[in-house]
Amino acid sequence: MPKEGIVMHKKGRCPKCGESVKHTKIENVPVHEGARVRGHGVVYLCPYCDTVLGAGLDPGVLVSEIIKEIKKNNSVHLRL
Ligand SMILES: [Zn+2]
Repeated sequence: MPKEGIVMHKKGRCPKCGESVKHTKIENVPVHEGARVRGHGVVYLCPYCDTVLGAGLDPGVLVSEIIKEIKKNNSVHLRL
């Protein structure tokens, strides 16, 4: 069996500078919907030339929001 399918580090390359991206930089940005701020987002940047490689919701904020919701729901259940 060839082991080509088992690759620990993928060799993705930055579309601008062509460097192999082994890690990304992260930058916090507000997420807007129209003119209103809707939440916290992040952009993933090439560590060599700061090209935006991707964007998404801030994972840290997302986790704390989920925990907040769980705590809220638990307190609701406890009252029943
Ligand atoms: Zn780059």
